[in-house]
Amino acid sequence: MDPLEHASIPSLVYLALSGEPTLAGLTALALGAVFPDLDALAEEHRSYLHSLLPFLPILLLGLHLGSPFLLFALGWGSHLFLDFFTGVVPVAYPLSRRGWGLSITVTGPGNFRIRAEIIERYPDERHDYRLEIGGSFALALLAILTAIIRLH
Ligand SMILES: [Zn+2]
Repeated sequence: MDPLEHASIPSLVYLALSGEPTLAGLTALALGAVFPDLDALAEEHRSYLHSLLPFLPILLLGLHLGSPFLLFALGWGSHLFLDFFTGVVPVAYPLSRRGWGLSITVTGPGNFRIRAEIIERYPDERHDYRLEIGGSFALALLAILTAIIRLH
């Protein structure tokens, strides 16, 4: 999942569910949602910032301090949630490099099947990216338009 998707999906949820969304809240949420991918600078893509070990104290701090810190933590949590469905999340990194995720595949139209499977493996080694962001760019535009409507 690319940074545009990571920022757009929780932003749309925030804009839809918040009674009074603010630009500061939306910014904190979006920054938190892309923050874990700074792991791309480490040896493994999903490593330190994709672990629950740094995330849970930040979430507790956010619960104590409230917005915008809580929204940053919720954005971070949304990143881990979304990554769980697109690979593995190493919940105890660096104590353990093993990660878990949920793979859902749909085949068809002939012999239509939906298959869900827990996957368990180590995070991928760091590599250079080549992202096709056409779909996520459209999603980001939708999030920006929604923000303009909801924040005015
Ligand atoms: Zn990630």
